[in-house]
Amino acid sequence: MLIRIHRETRPGERRVALVPKTVRRLVDAGHTVVFPAGVGLGADYSDETYTAAGAEMYEGSPPEADLVAAVGPITLDDVAPTKAVVAFLDPLGQPAEMSRFAAAGVQALSMELIPRTTLAQSMDALSSQATSAGYEAVLMAAGELRRFLPMMMTAAGTIPPAKALVLGAGVAGLQAISTLRRLGAMVAGYDIRPEAAEQIESLGATFVGGPTEKQDSGGYASEVTEDTKAAQLAALHTHVAAADIVITTAQVPGRAAPILVTAAMVADMKPGSVVVDLAASTGGNCEVTEAGKTIDYHGVIVMGPLDLPSRTAGQSSEMYSRNVTALIDYLADEDGVLVLDPDDEIAAGCAVVRDGEITNERVRAAAEGGS
Ligand code: NAD
Repeated sequence: MLIRIHRETRPGERRVALVPKTVRRLVDAGHTVVFPAGVGLGADYSDETYTAAGAEMYEGSPPEADLVAAVGPITLDDVAPTKAVVAFLDPLGQPAEMSRFAAAGVQALSMELIPRTTLAQSMDALSSQATSAGYEAVLMAAGELRRFLPMMMTAAGTIPPAKALVLGAGVAGLQAISTLRRLGAMVAGYDIRPEAAEQIESLGATFVGGPTEKQDSGGYASEVTEDTKAAQLAALHTHVAAADIVITTAQVPGRAAPILVTAAMVADMKPGSVVVDLAASTGGNCEVTEAGKTIDYHGVIVMGPLDLPSRTAGQSSEMYSRNVTALIDYLADEDGVLVLDPDDEIAAGCAVVRDGEITNERVRAAAEGGS
């Protein structure tokens, strides 16, 4: 098929959906890959590296594609003309755009909706990008914190390690814990899922306690009750107040992020402490977070970055590109044509728009509700 690489336009987005290494694999598999000039520059891939990998650069209007590969989110206008698109489409956040894809007959594959199963692990872009985000969040916090992270035993005295707290121990949170441990911080963690306690401890951090609830939505957390929320805040207050660094990563797919750090907790932190809120794009886990900004709240630095995977754009793109290529390999038939079998778990999961219809119930309800 003819695969067109999209040049991302979202401010701060440096990633590219396909990198030269995987372009070579696609070309070797018989696909044609085309790209506009400068497609990979943000991630440090020159046009020459794409042509050397067998891709063809186009000028002027984009040729009609069988599939446009993008990071996203994107609109129909961004990617037309094409028969299909694969990206982080944010279908629950942009249901009206999904209706437009459906009306235009464009098959829309959402990287967010790939099932989190062992079979689909190589396509799991939420995990690969969360790995980058968890790592980068720690470096941002360490850069802002005006103290050492590890314990220092010097002739001028012993300096204790910085204390870090990670809230939400999914893919990003566990990566943040590992990175903080590598830098020598004393780390504690918390997650609503009971099984996360063991994972936190296996990385050399302590589980702070607080309420846990068995989750039944495919490993994801659901929204918690008001009683649980109150119990969480009561349990976390002293741990937040004592931490030099708090990294929050708690998310509930398709919903606003849960508040785990209140304004009062931030006010009780030591001056110069740092909060990095990875859930900023969905409202934030910290009450005072401002998405995309770094603010000073009573002397505490609160950061709500929206571009974390872009800060390691080359490697984030490399991982994303492998995820997208694994999906293309899986869905393409022997003639290289995209086949979206409604009985196949992966195809059915990610094809949010197939043959002119929104297939995902929640997205369809949101689109029909006009939200
Ligand atoms: P996510 O980004 O949706 O959420 C991050 C973390 O926040 C999760 O661990 C979640 O439990 C936690 N959280 C949500 N609400 C919370 C609250 N109120 N209080 C405290 N913590 C809260 O999650 P993710 O990192 O994408 O991973 C979600 C799950 O999927 C995990 O169980 C993970 O192990 C699993 N997973 C499975 C696979 C696979 O099988 N291939 C791959 C990746 C992730």
